Amino acid sequence: MVAFLKDLILHFSIILSLGFMYNFLWMQKRYTYKLHIFKLSILAALLLTMALPVRFHGGMEFDLKLIPIFIAYFYLGRTDSFLLVAVLLLLQGFLEIEKLGVTSINYAVILILFFAIEKMYKDTSVKKKIALGLFVYALITSTRLAALINSGNAEDYLYLLVFSLVSFIALSVTIYIIEMTNFQLQMMHELHKAEKFSAISQLAASVAHEIRNPMTTIRGFMQVLQGERNLSADQNLFISISLQELDRTQTIIDNFLSLAKPNTGGMVKINLSRLLREIIDFMRSYSHLANTELVEGIEKNLWIKGDAHEIRQVFINILKNGIEAMPGGGSIYIIAKIDKDYVKVQFRDEGVGMKKAQLERLGNPYYSTKEKGTGLGLMISYDIIQRMRGKIVVDSEEGKGTTFTILLPCE
Ligand code: ADP
Ligand code: MG
Repeated sequence: MVAFLKDLILHFSIILSLGFMYNFLWMQKRYTYKLHIFKLSILAALLLTMALPVRFHGGMEFDLKLIPIFIAYFYLGRTDSFLLVAVLLLLQGFLEIEKLGVTSINYAVILILFFAIEKMYKDTSVKKKIALGLFVYALITSTRLAALINSGNAEDYLYLLVFSLVSFIALSVTIYIIEMTNFQLQMMHELHKAEKFSAISQLAASVAHEIRNPMTTIRGFMQVLQGERNLSADQNLFISISLQELDRTQTIIDNFLSLAKPNTGGMVKINLSRLLREIIDFMRSYSHLANTELVEGIEKNLWIKGDAHEIRQVFINILKNGIEAMPGGGSIYIIAKIDKDYVKVQFRDEGVGMKKAQLERLGNPYYSTKEKGTGLGLMISYDIIQRMRGKIVVDSEEGKGTTFTILLPCE
């Protein structure tokens, strides 16, 4: 019994060390060879657990070699796990050649099982990953149990169960540590990016602000010039065109500043119909560039209470996402109308759509599927709408398109 416990604790620590090794290696920037070091650690864990198997009364032996192979398969890749299995079989050949056949079949089955769950494993949550680990363990434990009963050592089943439970826990903790390490790294990376982004947009805002002053001066002098009597018709025309262009530049800068500026104003009564049209006009050139069309059906005089800058931010985010979801072009339909006590604004695109799992993650910070995405747009939008006591509902079908519905309390 004591020997069994000792064995258990030993194996448990061998496996756990893998998780801590991963965390240590990946959280330190200075290890260039971390991947190699981690591969060697997995190999070492495999060799150790094979060299020191747990012995039961009936002469049966168990070890945790499945776990290093599991970790190698899902966190290093197929090739590495195949190599690891090859090492395992080679060693088995040396140690107990008579068992080589059975072990080969066992691991072939296990690799096929891994292959079958690989896709599911890769894009699911940590909890479900652990559940998949449990599934693999339950399967393997039941075959071992069958082998025990077959060999007439059924009384050892309790040991087997305890052993399986402990190894399952070891696997879960290892998966958890590795996943959390990856998550933390990703967060740090995104945070860094977001910080850089906000610094740049602040700089850009101050530059835009600075441009406004000389522009006002230019505009003033232009107007003075326009008042001159002895100007030719052409000169007059040029000056008014320049004035118009200056005004256009001014609008662009104002729009930009209202985006870059953090929320300042309080909640005021807003004509959403007008604001929505302004936003759509503002986004039109961007959408043309991306070969997409904005089609609007907006009821008149929809009033809400809120901060215009913030609402602008939400709608621009959603429109931009819709345009980005249609790399081949298409239309976005924007509908706004009264729906009971709410103003309902709908954005329907004909883009790539989302899977159910993706939909569930929407609004989580830093969730983005785009190479240059920040995953902050929707998070900020959800926050703004929530503060206005509104709701966002998203419907999406992969390959067909997405509809964002925003409900805001009527004023
Ligand atoms: P970003 O646009 O920087 O990626 P967002 O928070 O705006 O960040 O969006 C998060 C993710 O949600 C996007 O990367 C994309 O995968 C998904 N998404 C948002 N809107 C749509 C849409 N209209 N169609 C398909 N996917 C979308
Ligand atoms: Mg976005």
